[in-house]
This record gives sequence, structure tokens and C-alpha cells, in this order.
Amino acid sequence: MEKINSKLMIVVPCYNEEEVLPECVKQLAAILEELEQSGKIASGAMLLVDDGSKDKTWNLISDYGLKMPGRVRGLKLAHNVGHQNALWAGMEWAANKCDMIVSIDADLQDDIHAIIEMVDCYNSGADVVYGVRKERETDTFFKRFTAQSFYKFIKGMGADVVYNHADFRLISKRALQSFVSMPERNLFLRGMVRTLGYNQDCVYYDRKERFAGESKYPLKKMLRFAWDGITSFSNGPLHIIVIGGMLFLLVAFAVVLYCLYQFIIGHTVPGWTSLIISIWFVGGAILLAVGVIGEYIGKIYKEVKRRPRYLIQEEV
Ligand code: UDP
Ligand code: MG
Repeated sequence: MEKINSKLMIVVPCYNEEEVLPECVKQLAAILEELEQSGKIASGAMLLVDDGSKDKTWNLISDYGLKMPGRVRGLKLAHNVGHQNALWAGMEWAANKCDMIVSIDADLQDDIHAIIEMVDCYNSGADVVYGVRKERETDTFFKRFTAQSFYKFIKGMGADVVYNHADFRLISKRALQSFVSMPERNLFLRGMVRTLGYNQDCVYYDRKERFAGESKYPLKKMLRFAWDGITSFSNGPLHIIVIGGMLFLLVAFAVVLYCLYQFIIGHTVPGWTSLIISIWFVGGAILLAVGVIGEYIGKIYKEVKRRPRYLIQEEV
């Protein structure tokens, strides 16, 4: 299934990126040029989404928009809505204006040459191509261990994500249109894309240091993001409460037997048996009840997300 003659849009969320923007635009323009020259795409453009920056980011974007019409498009959001929402805004805008999009951060940490490989995958039939960063030899054992545990934990909690993949990926038009039809508000893009299905592929690249400026994702934001990922993706934590409640009740039964035995052989002071039995039983019952309520809330949560029940990939 050859799909050449297609339009590519590179979507770049930018928040206070005046330091990296000139280099970013230059390098992306060069890649687009290269893709066009080699005939892998018919035409390419980049969409810079200014996520309510407080510096000169928007001035730069509008200048580029005038200087390089057709190559650079700009979108200014009215206020800062965060990386995931800014990226969503760009994807929604691009969904019916091109045949595929590539999302990438403005800071040039991801190897832009991987975009060429992504387009190759697209041309041979892929709908979603993940940019996956290679494990660095320089990474310490600790770094690798924590990262790996993080992905395993999220997966264990029921949110499927591609190991070592951030938000650098290609999405074809049909996948993108299905994607932006998900009406949920709590975005965890890398998990949501995974649920799309279609033909998915990966390309591998080395991740670099930030080109300039500093990370807009301090540790606090990162932990919050991880927690968002789990809670906006799975009811795993609710199941844990139910299981916990059941275990608690099971232990309660053992405690009852033990307490009664102690009571019968007379090893107790008055009041102890009834007190301990009540504590364990009531505790277990409450935990289980909370878990059951949680299960219903989980169902409601799924309903309000109104995700499509299915997506059709092909018809014959
Ligand atoms: N970003 C954004 N809005 C924000 C924070 C970040 O659009 O509120 C953009 C930022 O400009 C960059 C991308 O999201 O293009 C990733 O941010 P950053 O590189 O700071 O994160 P890190 O790579 O350190 O995780
Ligand atoms: Mg970065």
C-alpha cells in the first residue's frame, strides 16, 4: 500500500521556547526539504502551537509564519494549558488539513532524523509510528531501574504504554481523526494512542540533551503526570481497594477464630474479644464497601469519557 504524494504536518507545542525556536524551525525546515526532495512526501509544513508563553515565542512564530508561508503555521492558545492539551490543540487543528502528523517537542531532544524513518514506515502502511529512545549506555543502573519500574507499574495498573516512548510519534490521518474524536478531557496521549489499534510500528533513536533553555517538566510535574496517566487511564487503583477489602475480611475471619479460641481458654481480659473482632470486621466491611462504590464510580468514569466503542480499520 504505497501512499506517497501525501502532506505532512509536524506539530510542535512551544512554551517559553524563544531560545530554541530559531534552531528548531531551521532544522525542521531542513528535514521537510529533504523529505520533499527525496519524494517521500508531497509537501510538508510545521505547526507551532504557542501554549500561552510569557516570552517572545509568539512574536517569533508569527515572524516565521510571514517569512516562510506554507512552511510554518502558528497557533496561539489564549493561556497556558500544558503540553498534552497544547499538543491536542495542534492535532485537532491539523486533523483534516494533512495526511499525517508528527508530534515532537520544540527542544530538539528527539532526533529529528527519525522523522524520515517514520515517514518510510507510513509509506509502507503504518498508521501510528512511535519514536522510541534507545537505552543509553551512559544511563546509570538507577536511572534505568526507575524508568523500567515506572513503565511496568503503569502497565500493571492497566494503562498500556510503549516502553521509552514519549510524545514523539507519527499518526496517519485516519488514526488521527479517530484519535481526536475521543471527547475526554483528561489527556494521557501516549496511552490513548496505544488503544487506537490500526497498524503500529516503532523507530529507534538516541535522545539528546535539551538544545537550550530549561525543562518545563520539573520533578513535581513529572510525578503529577505519572499519576494522571494512571488515574485517567485505568480503574486499577479501585480494583486494589476491592481486593484489599476482601483480604482484610479474610484476615478478620482468622482473627475471629483466634480471639474466640483465646476467649474459650480464658486468656483474655473482659472486652478484648468483642473489641478486636469488631475492629477487624468493621474495618474489612468498610474497605470492601468503599471498593464496591469505587467500582461503580469507575464505570461512571468510563461512561463519561465516551470513548468510541470500536474503530473500523478496513472494509472489504
Ligand atoms: N510545553 C508546553 N506547555 C507546557 C510545558 C511544556 O507546550 O506547559 C512544551 C515545551 O515547550 C516542549 C514540550 O512541551 O516543546 C516538552 O517540554 P520539556 O522539553 O520542557 O519537557 P522534558 O523534555 O524536560 O520532559
Ligand atoms: Mg524536553
